[in-house]
Amino acid sequence: MPEGDSVYRVAARLHEALAGQPLTSADLRVPAYATADLTGRRVLEVAPRGKHLLARFEGGLTLHTHLRMDGRWEVYRPGERWTGGPDWQVRAVLGTDRGTAVGYRLPVVELLRTTDEQRIVGHLGPDLLGPDWDPVEAVRRLLARPGRPVVEALLDQRNLAGIGNVYANELCFVAGVTPWTEVGELPHPDRLVERARQMLEANKLRPGHITTGDTRPGYQHWVYGRAGRPCPRCVTPVAAGRQGSPPRDRAVFWCPYCQRGPAPEVTAARPGRGGAGRPRGR
Ligand SMILES: [Zn+2]
Repeated sequence: MPEGDSVYRVAARLHEALAGQPLTSADLRVPAYATADLTGRRVLEVAPRGKHLLARFEGGLTLHTHLRMDGRWEVYRPGERWTGGPDWQVRAVLGTDRGTAVGYRLPVVELLRTTDEQRIVGHLGPDLLGPDWDPVEAVRRLLARPGRPVVEALLDQRNLAGIGNVYANELCFVAGVTPWTEVGELPHPDRLVERARQMLEANKLRPGHITTGDTRPGYQHWVYGRAGRPCPRCVTPVAAGRQGSPPRDRAVFWCPYCQRGPAPEVTAARPGRGGAGRPRGR
């Protein structure tokens, strides 16, 4: 899953290329909308909502797309070659005199009335990068099911919108708890939610999801993707495993020394091992 800051940047790029311009070409290559013609409509704005992208057109229409795992939007200058993948992977094309936005491998392409957007994004919790960010409501939603593992509660977009697996893991580290810790056991949920917003804010204009403040390759994260390497704080090898039941499980990383709470036995911290076995109390 993409992180909310990545989606924010995509929306900004699309907005810059399209907003205020009439569409000179428009092609939605999904069966349901193959005959929809948006050509001539002006693009009002492209806005992110959590990890959803909403392109709004005059006449009260919205194009909703989601990147999920493999989707991406690219913007090309007029005449520039498209390089995002083979032609059959193109799901949407929106062109103006300024540039052409091409959506590759988008698992969600949906045209709807702008007044119906709530149907798509109404379930989302407060948006970490949104104008309506509400930390109190985010904490309330997180704690509504206090027995859930922290990592799972953070990833649930109905609690707060914008966190993907990188930030979910990194937030467990900065909170000093393992991914399996019950969210109700968090010492300071309000601080964690604030850290989440700071992380996304700090990265919304740059790639990399940097959480440590160190932009050097290999030093950008505390634990995520660092299995077997020394914890930047205590040099204990970072452990790796899986949390949740397949197919909805996920990779998790944690420092066995800095992070307190339930975790599988760590025998040797080898990449991909760490054991996804029974959580153990500590
Ligand atoms: Zn550590």
